Amino acid sequence: MDENINEVISDLKSYLEYLKGMGITFLPVTENNPEKVVRPEILTLADVRKALGDCKRCKLHGTRRTIVFGEGNEKATLMFIGEGPGYDEDVQGRPFVGKAGQLLTKIIESINLSREEVYIANIVKCRPPQNRNPEPDEIQNCNPFLMDQICVIRPKIICALGTFAAQTLLKTNTRISELRGKVFDIEGIKVIPTYHPAFLLRNPERKREVWEDMKKIAEYLKNANREGHSG
Ligand code: URA
Repeated sequence: MDENINEVISDLKSYLEYLKGMGITFLPVTENNPEKVVRPEILTLADVRKALGDCKRCKLHGTRRTIVFGEGNEKATLMFIGEGPGYDEDVQGRPFVGKAGQLLTKIIESINLSREEVYIANIVKCRPPQNRNPEPDEIQNCNPFLMDQICVIRPKIICALGTFAAQTLLKTNTRISELRGKVFDIEGIKVIPTYHPAFLLRNPERKREVWEDMKKIAEYLKNANREGHSG
């Protein structure tokens, strides 16, 4: 019997090594939650942070001051994802702490939540120089770590802030003005795109639409909490 188990373990080990060689580093966990996909070694946000290390995977490392990993509740039901750190975020090492961040805080509070109850992250974790748009290779290098964060937190809803967050998460080139107002689903997580707070600072007349999106988010959250998720 023991011999059989050892054989099975050995076969499984070889198979996993084979998959690893093929570049497969994620395996679906089917026992309790068929949709949850985690890397076996990534179980907490601290694990994701550790795996990221002193990241030099893209050229942004050369000009950044700090890696802005993300912050908030590891068990959040609602996650906000922005574009990338700006000057203030780069200095402080925290997401959304500048002018746009202050507006985001108000947006979060408008549905009676605090920053501490949600999780806030960005498509890229290092500041693009002069706040230019993040480039495709930078987004691609950073994306596995954002995906790991999402897998660990497993929010019910992701609010995608602006073009880069919405287009990256939804793998589309559709304009944000067309994406907002709609609700998408990625692996059981609702993705609700809305305008970026920095855009709202320049176009305050668009705040009404964001308020509509937030009301929708609050409604979904109410239902999700009824189903027994905390945060
Ligand atoms: N804009 C973003 O997209 N993210 C931040 O963290 C700050 C400003």
